[in-house]
Amino acid sequence: MPATPKPEILAAFEAAKGFMPMDEGLALYAAAAEAGRLGLPLLEVGTYCGRSTVLLADAAREAGVTALTVDHHRGSEEQQPGWDYHDPETVDPEIGLMDTLPTFRRTLHRAGLEEHVVALVGRSPQIAALWARPLGLVFVDGGHTDEHASADYEGWAPHVAEGGLLVIHDVFPEPEDEFTGQAPYRVHQRALASGAFTEVSATGSLRVLRRRGAGI
Ligand code: SAH
Ligand code: MG
Repeated sequence: MPATPKPEILAAFEAAKGFMPMDEGLALYAAAAEAGRLGLPLLEVGTYCGRSTVLLADAAREAGVTALTVDHHRGSEEQQPGWDYHDPETVDPEIGLMDTLPTFRRTLHRAGLEEHVVALVGRSPQIAALWARPLGLVFVDGGHTDEHASADYEGWAPHVAEGGLLVIHDVFPEPEDEFTGQAPYRVHQRALASGAFTEVSATGSLRVLRRRGAGI
């Protein structure tokens, strides 16, 4: 039986702003719970307002590990003013730029999960370049351009431990299904072609891959 979150965690997930439906959230939670058994941190790229972070954080708490979440909090291209995924509430009125960090912190606080999460605020490739520790799970849900998605894969996939999981969101194999582009799909194909990962599950646009080698 895959691990499922408690009702209060599901309620916090549903109450949070963000871009993840319930079925994909449950698949992410199950993957995070499984990867947590490696005893290594779980890392997300693309915090936004903390919707998926709630799930990683609860799985991390259950496993006694830390969840890390990376975002510059200035929003992706398609979330900027005038674009389809823009939410005016995410703009800091003082400087006129998006800032999702305050909403993210409220989400985590309300869910009672602050102490299980370390937020890394900055550009994903810049943080990845400083990183040198194995991770139990890497969840790629950041920028959707080829530049950003490839950099996330190149920067973080090498840190997935043997038997650990690489989870990719917004994988749309059919061009007609795309609404944010097919860069995550190309990254997914690249991960499989590398021979380092095998696919474990597919739920909606969420793909779970496992690094070959000693497992959980
Ligand atoms: N996981 C979230 C959605 C993430 S949206 C949820 O469940 O709702 C994508 C996020 O990636 C945005 O908040 C954006 O600011 C961030 N992002 C995009 N490119 C980035 C980069 N290069 N470095 C850090 N964060 C980035
Ligand atoms: Mg996404």
